[in-house]
Amino acid sequence: MSELTTWQHFIGGTWVEPASGQYVESTNPATREVLYRAARGNATDVARAVAAAREAFEDPRWRDLSQTRRGHLLRRLGDLIAENAEDLARMETRDNGKLLREMRGQLATLPEYYHYYAGLADKIHGDFIPTSDRQVLNYTAREPLGVVGAITPWNSPLTLTSSKLAPALCAGNTVVIKPSEYTSATVLRLAELALEAGFPPGAVNVVTGFGAEAGQALVDHRDLAKISFTGSTATGARIASATAGRFIGSTLELGGKSPNIVFGDANIPNAAMGVVAGIFAAAGQTCIAGSRVFAHRSVYDELLERVTERARTIRIGDPLDEKTELGPLAFEDQREKVAGYVDLGRGEGARVLTGGRATDGGGLGGWFYEPTVLVDVHNDMRVVREEIFGPVLAVMPFDSEEEVVRLANDTEYGLAAGVWTTSLSRAHRMAARLDAGTVWVNTYRAMSPMSPRQGFKTSGVGVEHGTETIREYTRLKSVWINT
Ligand code: NAD
Repeated sequence: MSELTTWQHFIGGTWVEPASGQYVESTNPATREVLYRAARGNATDVARAVAAAREAFEDPRWRDLSQTRRGHLLRRLGDLIAENAEDLARMETRDNGKLLREMRGQLATLPEYYHYYAGLADKIHGDFIPTSDRQVLNYTAREPLGVVGAITPWNSPLTLTSSKLAPALCAGNTVVIKPSEYTSATVLRLAELALEAGFPPGAVNVVTGFGAEAGQALVDHRDLAKISFTGSTATGARIASATAGRFIGSTLELGGKSPNIVFGDANIPNAAMGVVAGIFAAAGQTCIAGSRVFAHRSVYDELLERVTERARTIRIGDPLDEKTELGPLAFEDQREKVAGYVDLGRGEGARVLTGGRATDGGGLGGWFYEPTVLVDVHNDMRVVREEIFGPVLAVMPFDSEEEVVRLANDTEYGLAAGVWTTSLSRAHRMAARLDAGTVWVNTYRAMSPMSPRQGFKTSGVGVEHGTETIREYTRLKSVWINT
């Protein structure tokens, strides 16, 4: 234990001992080795962090900083992330088991989040309004909100935190982040880099610990001007009801059960690759996982064969190894949950074409689970309706466009959808009719900080990314001056 790294909270630009004196261990899911201990936060720590963020928000060093200069700080932070990319990628791979290859890809684009909002910082402004009374001058101003609370999950800590942190700072807010109790390290390191980039102490604070303690205390804090949350729909609902009476803004990015639809006229080898990447990237632990595949009956057998063959040969193993194609699930309960769903599916009558077993990753000892393909499934089964968040794919045939639109939209979720077709007019029809915030045609997973995205139905509230999200981190003031 003495060799373990210990992370305290990062509050007001300095490391702070948790009020409880307690720490939470974080484990490498590939090996079950304990990696580090992070502070177990409670309401006292959260109050301290919100106070530091409030003080920083009102400090002239931040409040009066020009928007151009704010942009410079964001640019510098992006540059520092690029300089530290390999360390950050390895740190996150060890922490949540995502492939180092995938993490390097994420780190290659992560600086863009800060560079994009760096460019936007001096373009936030109000308008002159030419009202009919010319004696009175009316203009609007876009103001920062104050202290923003950001709560993030374990599956992509750096990227999902950056989707909130970059626009929040761009708009002039200060931030208190509560990362997942399973993956605190890279987010703490990010806050350290923000200080190094020149953001004033207190602009970026991190309180670690459990959702029910630190997370809930942050949500309940009266000085919070906004909550921006990414995580499960169940927690999102809890947060929405906890903040409802306070009328503070909330951006909620929640769960999904996304359809990936393959038409008879699609390029089937490409579609099969898209289906595989759609579900098995990050071992299925992505909100946008294409976990329901609908294949036109004319190509159902061919697609299934290709997907199943690829799933069978995916190399499971050490996520740090360049050759590995599937890493572990992020923690023990997560694997239990996935295994439980596959058993449930079997009980509901699903047939397991490949996978369906837990493994130790070739002797590594971690929480691995085989890529799994389920058939003989239909929309009434829980494995088709509920988010599994693991490498489990349900494949179903369909006969007509009309039918597949109905089947794909028959879900409480509305995060994303994929369509594979060579018909341009069908692509447009499907994009219009699918009830999902993001629709990909002949690709899957494309994403950019420049492109706004929103979860429909129970997949979320509010917009992240792009210029659009700046509205969510600012408030509009209307000023009337009698001339
Ligand atoms: P989760 O809801 O269990 O936890 C997310 C975060 O909320 C964690 O930091 C957790 O500690 C905190 N939390 C838990 N209970 C809380 C409470 N009562 N009050 C305040 N905070 C609380 O989700 P998870 O298991 O960490 O992440 C997986 C989920 O995230 C999946 O449902 C996935 O689809 C979703 N997700 C969504 C997106 C998106 O952009 N829509 C992206 C990634 C993940």
